[in-house]
Amino acid sequence: MTTGTDTDLWRTKYFASLDRLDEQQLQFRAMEAVLKRLVGRLCTAALGLAPPLDEQIRRLQTAIRRESPADELEKLTPALTEAIGALDHPVPSSPAAMSAPVSPAAPAPSRDALVNDDRVRAILAAVIAELRRDAELAAQVDALDQKLSNALTQHQLPEVLTSLTDLVGKRIRHIERAKQEIEDLLGHMVGKLDEIGEFVAEQHQNQAQSHASTQTLNTQLVGEIKAMGETVDSANDLQQIRQQVRNRMDAIDKHLQEFRQREATFAAAISARSDQMRSRILELEAEATRLQSQLQDEQRASTMDMLTRIPNRQAYDKRVDDELHRLRRFKQATCLAVWDVDHFKRINDTYGHRAGDRVLQVVAECFASRIRSTDFIARYGGEEFVMLLPGTHLEDASRFSERIRAAIAEIGFHFRGSPVSITVSSGVTALLPDDSAGSAFDRADKALYRAKQEGRNRCVTV
Ligand code: GH3
Ligand code: MG
Ligand code: MG
Repeated sequence: MTTGTDTDLWRTKYFASLDRLDEQQLQFRAMEAVLKRLVGRLCTAALGLAPPLDEQIRRLQTAIRRESPADELEKLTPALTEAIGALDHPVPSSPAAMSAPVSPAAPAPSRDALVNDDRVRAILAAVIAELRRDAELAAQVDALDQKLSNALTQHQLPEVLTSLTDLVGKRIRHIERAKQEIEDLLGHMVGKLDEIGEFVAEQHQNQAQSHASTQTLNTQLVGEIKAMGETVDSANDLQQIRQQVRNRMDAIDKHLQEFRQREATFAAAISARSDQMRSRILELEAEATRLQSQLQDEQRASTMDMLTRIPNRQAYDKRVDDELHRLRRFKQATCLAVWDVDHFKRINDTYGHRAGDRVLQVVAECFASRIRSTDFIARYGGEEFVMLLPGTHLEDASRFSERIRAAIAEIGFHFRGSPVSITVSSGVTALLPDDSAGSAFDRADKALYRAKQEGRNRCVTV
């Protein structure tokens, strides 16, 4: 049966889970705002190319300002795409226009370059990574990611952004739905717990009634026996005594029968309620188990990096605090290594974002398969990883990092049929008792910077 402490623990977990969902919802609202800003900037950049396109862009800007829903934005896409398409097939100019003197134009900045700008791509990649948390959207996110893996043209942009806005909207609705489900379940469970509380109170009342009934029987019996004694004292003959005793015995028998009946009624009521409660408790336990696994899934999703399937920065922040605590308490030598893929931008630029993502997955796999079960690796962000090695002295951590570096350098990557060498660099340091998570990381990061300065594909220990 669930104890009071378990119930408190559950309630705390549910509320924590609701808080987390609220937080995710806020993140999505922020992301939606970023996307809208992005659309706004791209619209401004595209203004002035052609009047029909300007008109469509203004419509889009108005729709964004009015916070129109995704389906309304979707409706604007065909006209916008058509106006952009018309830029590539301009209507032949009139002879007068053709004969007009042409002033030498400055080379126009490439608008496609803006679309493929690294910062824009990084925002899109962050939104995609966030959307990947939602299993229901997997196929749509994959399709969109596929489109983004190739260089985008100005024509594709409205369509891509509309799909992205649509997916963000869906993700928000899914989070709201999940939150509602947990709230409903919680309400349901609280209802059942109240019912169990009422049952316990009723039990008390039944016990009190049963106690009162026994008291009544006692009083009645004492009264009858006393009366019997008085009858014997005052009776004149045996015949009279016999009659009086028989009457008293009949009365006692009646009291006993009434008592048994009262007890039987109480017992039946208690047994029926007990059966009902047993089934309530079973249901409650099943729901608690379901909720527990739902919470575990949520927990896993919020601490795991969706691209590489290893822990994310949030998980690292918690783990490094635990390790610092253990280090101070048990004086256990612990090392920290910060890793960064060398010239990663080149890989993205030369072979595309998807190839870059694949590199991150393979590198993460290599880290994860080589560390000990007590070690820890997380994706810190972008192409940076961070490793914690408890129970390891600096010289061993340095040797270990060197082995991993060499192993990664030897992985045979192939892109577009040609072998490509991928290398990583790292900064390794020992955690000190006075360290904060930030100071230890900064030290390792400085060592990483030196590794880069000294030519990359190396580990620097400080
Ligand atoms: P260095 O050797 O000095 O580390 O150079 P670098 O090119 O690796 O470093 P830089 O910081 O200039 O570039 C990192 C690039 O990583 C830029 C960014 O677009 C890319 N990136 C960040 N996150 C992801 C991701 O999830 N997937 C892919 N494919 N690329 C990413
Ligand atoms: Mg980096
Ligand atoms: Mg790098």
